[in-house]
Amino acid sequence: MPSASVVLDIPTRALDRAFDYRIPSELADEVSVGATVLVDFSHRAAVGYVVGLSDEVPRSIDADRIKDIQQVLAPPAFDETAACVIAWMAREYACPLSEAVRPFLAPGQKVKVTRAGEGGPWELTHERAGTVDDRWVELADAGFVPAAHASRQRQVLEALAAGPMRLAELSALIGGAASAVKALEKHGAVSCASRRRVRGGDATTLSSAYAVRPERLTRGQLDALAAIGEAVGRASGDCVLIDGVTGSGKTEVYLAAIERVREQGRGALVLVPEISLTAQTVGRFRSRFGDDVAILHSRLSVGERFDQWDMVRSGQAHVVVGARSALFAPLSNAGLIIIDEEHEGSYKQDQAPRYHARELAARLARERGAALVLGSATPSLEALERCRTGSYRGSRWTRVEMPERPGGARLPTVTVVDMADQFRGGARSIFSEPLEKALHAVAARGEKAVLLLNRRGFATFLMCRDCGCVSECPHCSTALTYHERSHELMCHTCGQSWPIKAYPDPSTSCPNCGSRFLAAFGIGTQRVEDELRMLLPDSMDIIRMDADTTRGKGAHQELLERFDASPSAVLIGTQMIAKGLDFPEVTLVGVINADTMLKLPDFRAAERTYALLEQVSGRAGRGEKPGEVIIQTWWANHPAILAAARHDRRLFEEAERAERKEAGYPPFSRLANITFWGMQSRAVLAASDAFAAELRARVGTDPAWEVLGPAACIKSRVKDRFRRHVMVKAPLDADLGSVLSACVRTLPAKRGSNISIDIDAYDMM
Ligand code: ADP
Ligand code: ZN
Ligand code: ZN
Repeated sequence: MPSASVVLDIPTRALDRAFDYRIPSELADEVSVGATVLVDFSHRAAVGYVVGLSDEVPRSIDADRIKDIQQVLAPPAFDETAACVIAWMAREYACPLSEAVRPFLAPGQKVKVTRAGEGGPWELTHERAGTVDDRWVELADAGFVPAAHASRQRQVLEALAAGPMRLAELSALIGGAASAVKALEKHGAVSCASRRRVRGGDATTLSSAYAVRPERLTRGQLDALAAIGEAVGRASGDCVLIDGVTGSGKTEVYLAAIERVREQGRGALVLVPEISLTAQTVGRFRSRFGDDVAILHSRLSVGERFDQWDMVRSGQAHVVVGARSALFAPLSNAGLIIIDEEHEGSYKQDQAPRYHARELAARLARERGAALVLGSATPSLEALERCRTGSYRGSRWTRVEMPERPGGARLPTVTVVDMADQFRGGARSIFSEPLEKALHAVAARGEKAVLLLNRRGFATFLMCRDCGCVSECPHCSTALTYHERSHELMCHTCGQSWPIKAYPDPSTSCPNCGSRFLAAFGIGTQRVEDELRMLLPDSMDIIRMDADTTRGKGAHQELLERFDASPSAVLIGTQMIAKGLDFPEVTLVGVINADTMLKLPDFRAAERTYALLEQVSGRAGRGEKPGEVIIQTWWANHPAILAAARHDRRLFEEAERAERKEAGYPPFSRLANITFWGMQSRAVLAASDAFAAELRARVGTDPAWEVLGPAACIKSRVKDRFRRHVMVKAPLDADLGSVLSACVRTLPAKRGSNISIDIDAYDMM
């Protein structure tokens, strides 16, 4: 009697294992790994996912007591290999199995079931409106001659002479087309059919969104392809790190490598950060692989995501380009997994399951016998260290350098401007003298510039001149940011905002000392834009790209297209402009404030600063004209800034490596952050104390482990919840997930305190 192993979608750690159910003969054809099924659990209907099949009911189970699978609710969304990855993910990231299954399900699928009347079949609720069909009209009898007065019919026939058209298009073209088509159909002159529409295939007018096939590859590109070819050939999850300077042509390497695996009949997954920002990249893949490409990212509507996902499942598309969640696409024959801009923090998922795309991809590549390719101009210290060692968790890691830009384009020259010097000289402007001069020169030459305003860890606050107090949100320990245009104070943790009576209204006073001398401190993109308009001639376009101007769907793309089409323009933006943009006409990059992130209490602060500066510098001089970069900073001698200025990573990397090793931070250890939160501080205190004590007891005196805390989080309150955390550093080969899961199981059932476990944590606030 065949049976299935089923993970129930009941998110409690107590039920966190697979349960066995018998497969009744009438469902034998439908039940397979990856299917969503309805089962009985404790006399209640429960939704579950099939993660394994066997021919016999396992001996450990009483054959009389095993229950039947009642119904299949959704067809398979993942295969057996994916089921292995799910089990690994739950263990590795200490999350319940059902949470590890969910990202693999069809987009829009919900856990809720409803029933069509008493005793009727159960149905899953879906977020999407199902598939969408278009009505297509086509000529059926070319010789048909309509009656003399039927001018509409004639118009329709003329339009269709060029080929079949959607009824909607015809109606837009010709008034009353629908009734004319109906009449023509009756006469047998045209035929109509419904065709499934595939949603989510976006288009762009960016000139650079086309991947021209280069006449010859560079030495570096050939080396990279050779290494990838070997890794693909070994089919055992080996990793190749492409350490290629900005503009060295990494995309061309990806494209060529994919062409080769496609020739072998295998597919490829390509991850790019923040997909909305890289319509250029998507365009390049489309121009090489056409409809073989599926696009998956969170900005698509659910319907769009479903259609793209379904193209992969049905075997129509074999190249998946997407954000980190593209790793869950149902591509069973993947021979290659590529992660572009591997160093990016956004590859860490910040909600359960809190996986890191790099680690998940490495596991997936092993399970599928694929090769993993990581690309970056500023590789993470993790990736560099694994290449230095040559192996990690049983896979080979190789680094290939691409130190040059093709076609003689050179890396830009970088000037560091010490703002402390400028200040001492009496300068008070946002723009230092060298940056102002360079901007004028770009305007005079009719070229383009990019200006970066580093907003992370720094924004516009309202600060008391007397006591230095910064207004905080009454519900969160977050400084309120001041929005100039709307005269509001806003909390970026909980999203609440308060109108302040227009500064410098005398009724606004310090919540701490009552002083009336409040001042906006820090710079916003709006102010940069305003000052720039005063500085530059009207003929120059100024385009601002930040969270405010890119809110709408496609807004981001529109701004980039405007920048592309303009003869001479400045693009001002936050971090989002630093990556991936390839505009050959940009000759100047200015960084307004390079060092704000360096002050964050985060061991990766220097690495992030270096990566950001090197990446944004890489936007300059990608074409024939040379590029120039000006970095404004208050910390001109910091290694991260010097390294970016000289395009020499070693200046930063060697010191950083030594520091991390000394302090036992990644890449020399694994770091987990366990956060506790709740309304009652006592409950939070008790839970975090109990957890830390249990963890210390398990770890014992092993010097390779280190347990820190519990302590209040930096954001010690969010939405009125108190927050405390425990941090743990573990050896690289430790089974950290299992240890932490075991500790959680010893905690008494949740009493006023929630817990989240973040392994390989990036956000420790
Ligand atoms: P990266 O991703 O490494 O920053 P890109 O892939 O965006 O760089 O490539 C930079 C530019 O170089 C692109 O415009 C691309 O078309 C061009 N390019 C890539 N490879 C070659 C080559 N072998 N010869 C000439 N141009 C190339
Ligand atoms: Zn004050
Ligand atoms: Zn708040």
